[in-house]
Amino acid sequence: MIFDSHLHTKFSTDSKMDIEDAVKKAKELNIGLIITEHMDLKYPIKGNFIFNPEDYFNEYNKYRNSNTLLGIELGMRSDCVEENRQIIESFPFDYVIGSIHLVDTIDIFREDFYAGRTKKETYEQYLTCMLECLKSHNFIDSLGHIDYITRYARYEDKEIYYDDFSEYIDEVLKTAVVSNIPLEINTRRLRYKVAADSLLKIYRRFYEVGGRQVTIGSDAHNAAAIGNNINIALEIADRCNLKPVYFKERKMEYMK
Ligand SMILES: [Zn+2]
Ligand SMILES: [Zn+2]
Repeated sequence: MIFDSHLHTKFSTDSKMDIEDAVKKAKELNIGLIITEHMDLKYPIKGNFIFNPEDYFNEYNKYRNSNTLLGIELGMRSDCVEENRQIIESFPFDYVIGSIHLVDTIDIFREDFYAGRTKKETYEQYLTCMLECLKSHNFIDSLGHIDYITRYARYEDKEIYYDDFSEYIDEVLKTAVVSNIPLEINTRRLRYKVAADSLLKIYRRFYEVGGRQVTIGSDAHNAAAIGNNINIALEIADRCNLKPVYFKERKMEYMK
């Protein structure tokens, strides 16, 4: 079964999705899903982007089955490594995405992260932070949205081109390979050809340096977005010789 392994329901600060709507939509599409609520410890606005895993499991356990799995999207930062590890070890998550949402304590959604700085500076800082966090968070299951910064960067051309940042991207990809961590293909921007093309190059390079598996996730914050562009992601995986996988009880499973 194909799995959409990245989506946010009401335990995420920025989503109001009802799990029942998510389950219904996945059934219509005949795909499995993994819920991955946001957990960004020490988020600058107190109480935002964190949730109580105990409440999450208590409320959602009844929906849990082989097609509906319960995961987490963990905000990686170098000053929260042990706290992050503690959360993962304390609760029975199926799947853990490790993501970079903040760089040096600033949410890269914010305009002031880019103010007065070149694309080269901010993207290199973003990728350096990703590399450091990937090294320290070797307990994650998959590296989330490598292209996240392109959603919010304040430059005319926001795309992350492999050739412009090859040294930095290579380090990230090689570190993922060494730690046996798949890369996520986040489907959110795949409807844009320039995004799909530049990502294809990055995932091809992932294969070249030894990567063999990818996870696929829509990052849906409402039920209508579940499964969006999954076929494009599957095509990218196929063209790069990468096998689509998902995680159940923290174990890698191949999509069939
Ligand atoms: Zn994210
Ligand atoms: Zn997300």
